Amino acid sequence: MSETPRCPNCGEELEYMEYVNLSVSWGTFDRYYEYDSDDARELECIYRCPSCGTIIANSEADAIEFFETGKLPEERKFPQRLREAMREVASLYEAHHFQPPAELTSSG
Ligand SMILES: [Zn+2]
Repeated sequence: MSETPRCPNCGEELEYMEYVNLSVSWGTFDRYYEYDSDDARELECIYRCPSCGTIIANSEADAIEFFETGKLPEERKFPQRLREAMREVASLYEAHHFQPPAELTSSG
């Protein structure tokens, strides 16, 4: 196992990332490539820093790449429906009176 990668935004050491899927649920995906739920593996997810919410990867392959190298995928363009899912998550934050991470609300 390589050195623990850090969030490119807040610098937090990331033992795990949060994943967010298109039906708006979330949990953890750790540096040993384990989800907290068996169902999560089947879902199409984005992966983000649990500390600041920065989106680090938009596929499991990219998330594993990040854990292995500590580097972001070169291509960070998200499909439109992922953007829509991100807005949906942002609205959930707002519904619960939390400030959504900037990454969820920027038009990108
Ligand atoms: Zn962070």
